[in-house]
Order: sequence, then structure tokens, then C-alpha cells
Amino acid sequence: MANRNPEWTRSEQISMDGVDYEVKIRRANSGFAGAWECYGCLARGETSLISDTEEQASERAQVSLYAHHILVHRSTDTGESGGAG
Ligand SMILES: [Zn+2]
Repeated sequence: MANRNPEWTRSEQISMDGVDYEVKIRRANSGFAGAWECYGCLARGETSLISDTEEQASERAQVSLYAHHILVHRSTDTGESGGAG
């Protein structure tokens, strides 16, 4: 059932564009699952895929984390976001 306090086997701090995140890994049924928490807006996410290793779970969590970052905390440069770079 729902885990209120899953036991994290590993956690790491990540910072992108001034926004701090924490990536956490926990044991799942047959491997490891990655989750992340955003200290910028207190959003949380978790990967649905089960990974064989903590490293893989971390990578997958960071992919999910990055999608959130782009969506919510994308660079807010003053001025228009031009197309051609
Ligand atoms: Zn956020």
C-alpha cells in the first residue's frame, strides 16, 4: 500500500538555475525507484519505472526532475525569448 515514510537508500542535492532539488532513491519490489523534491515550489515526483541500480534510478529521477524544471522554472530572462540562437 502507500508508503508514508519510505526508507531512502541514497539522496543527493542538485541545483539548476538557482533552484535546489533533492533526488532520492528507495528500494522497490525488485530494484530501486527514484524520486525528487523541488525546494523551489515544493513539488515532488517519482519515476514509475523500477531500476536495477541506484545510479539508474537516479538518472531516471533526474529526467523527470528536469522536465519539471523546464516547465515550471524555465529560465526567466528579462526580454523576449528569441527563436534563433
Ligand atoms: Zn519546482
